[in-house]
Amino acid sequence: MFAKRPKPLLSFPKQQLSNPHFFFFSTHTTLHSPLSSLPPRPSINQTKQVHAQIIVSGLAANASFTGHLLASLALSPSTPFAYSLSIFQTIQYPSLFASNNMIRCLAKSESPRESVVLYSCILGRNLIPNNHTYTFLLQACSKALAICEGAQVHAHVVKLGFCEDVFVRNALIHLYSACCRVECSKRVFEENDHCRDVVTWNSMLAGFVRDGRIGDAEKVFDEMPERDVISWSTMIMGYVQNGQLEEGLECFKEMREKGLRPNEAILVTVLSASAQMGLLENGRLAHSIVDSLNFPMTVSLGTALVDMYAKCGCIEQSKLLFHNMPRRDISSWNAMICGLASHGLGKEALALFERFIDEGFHPVSVTFIGVLNACSRAGLVNEGRHYFKLMTEKYDIELEMEHYGCMVDLLSRAGFVDEAVELIEKMQAPPDPVLWATLLGACKIHGSVELGEKIGNKLIQLDPTYDGHYVQLASIYAKARKWEDVVRVRRLMVEQNTNKVAGWSLIEAQGRVHQFVAGDREHERSLEIYNMLETIGTRIAEAGYSPKISSVLHDIGEEEKENVVKEHSERLAIAYGMLVTKVGDCIRIVKNLRVCEDCHEASKMISKVFDREIIVRDYSRFHHFKEGKCSCLDYW
Ligand code: ZN
Ligand code: ZN
Repeated sequence: MFAKRPKPLLSFPKQQLSNPHFFFFSTHTTLHSPLSSLPPRPSINQTKQVHAQIIVSGLAANASFTGHLLASLALSPSTPFAYSLSIFQTIQYPSLFASNNMIRCLAKSESPRESVVLYSCILGRNLIPNNHTYTFLLQACSKALAICEGAQVHAHVVKLGFCEDVFVRNALIHLYSACCRVECSKRVFEENDHCRDVVTWNSMLAGFVRDGRIGDAEKVFDEMPERDVISWSTMIMGYVQNGQLEEGLECFKEMREKGLRPNEAILVTVLSASAQMGLLENGRLAHSIVDSLNFPMTVSLGTALVDMYAKCGCIEQSKLLFHNMPRRDISSWNAMICGLASHGLGKEALALFERFIDEGFHPVSVTFIGVLNACSRAGLVNEGRHYFKLMTEKYDIELEMEHYGCMVDLLSRAGFVDEAVELIEKMQAPPDPVLWATLLGACKIHGSVELGEKIGNKLIQLDPTYDGHYVQLASIYAKARKWEDVVRVRRLMVEQNTNKVAGWSLIEAQGRVHQFVAGDREHERSLEIYNMLETIGTRIAEAGYSPKISSVLHDIGEEEKENVVKEHSERLAIAYGMLVTKVGDCIRIVKNLRVCEDCHEASKMISKVFDREIIVRDYSRFHHFKEGKCSCLDYW
């Protein structure tokens, strides 16, 4: 019945197949033996000690003891294949109980497919499989992603009448969803709807989540008669993995309100969602839960915290956590290197990378994105060239678009525009328009009208609907005072009816997230916000600030053009921050687009005049405004 496979690891002596006494080995033997001293989930060493005692007491030939020994091995957190097999092979006439437990051991081992061989031996010996046999066997098929074998086992389940066994059903639902056959899972789930427990619902929920069918998952979640921590964690992870970060955080909040204790997976997911959105208060809340519930600082939890603090603008806190982590893996290091780079701490990121190498780690693609980013943010051209070479020549890492992006950014900002062009032209894969766009930005900074014109026109051809390119090109002309060309490009942009990405800024206050768009008048405290904006405007003007005309032009593509610069979304968010935070408190903003030049100047001034630290995360980096300066040193 089963597909042809290589020589089985399991074999059975002939006499076992015709043993008439197999039923004599009861599954409920009362044991007054070393086995009774084992805890419910014994470690391998504990099991081995008991095994030794059985041998010493001369009980090794007792099939019942060995069967129970296998049962305790199956419950161990890790089950080595060779060891369980060696025990099983000492049993002359394995009972169904021993065989089931051997299947269970195999299901957890690195060779789950072997359980199918054992199952056919069971049938060959005329043993009658029970519900445990199928539950364990289907678990093994799920682990091996053995859909063909699994479907045949399903046929046996139907034939032998185990369709109404809830454990078997759960294992079937899990099998199909593990093998990407969620429609089959759904069919099993919908048959016998009286026969479901919380695991059945959870398996169906996980099936939809795995398939990215969040709408279906939500429906299952809403209909569940009871939910446990697994149900919540599956739903929260489903949202976050699907990019629905706010829904994920909302779901977590709901779970907390019900008084449930989160598990580690939930906390890691919530930290990741907070990091992606830059929501420090949310992230801090998750951190306080980790502390108050005394969660052990595992590698994944520690890494998630390091990443969250770095992405929410608290690089010092992130560093502290990283240095205090009891254990770190490569992703912890990657998070820290990338974090330092995004905060413009290039030298520190490179020093950390060198330590990472000294500790014997092998860098991966992401590590080099951090390293090259660090060079690019800090303008370390020679270092950038060195690491770019190192990554391909020494570590044999394939160059990806992101690596090129960092390099082009680094070279073109530092004025090596020709070298950047050469790099792009030598690429094997067609370059992402973003690379050209980076070059276009550099042409603007360095006033290279001719090259800028060439690249700008190329980009408009490649992607005529993105207005950012027109805006950049227009501002290159504006800088060169070629006003006729400015008008021409702007007219072209209007004709193409380009799509704008709406700009927004977020600020967290009093447990809520407040989102602003440019010229926003929707906020409940809008009147006060605009009054504050006036006050800010007067005070910074007194201190010598004047709006930048060229940036108004530049900014057309980034925020709605009908709005004046001073009503850009981050200005509104800052004004709101001034209203609701205590004097001297840091104001943290997350913005989806690049900060414009004028807002950058104004933020510097605000930080000086009002003596406030302002941290803005824009789409690619952090700006720490303090005492009239920005951490990016006006290089962004
Ligand atoms: Zn702006
Ligand atoms: Zn800055």
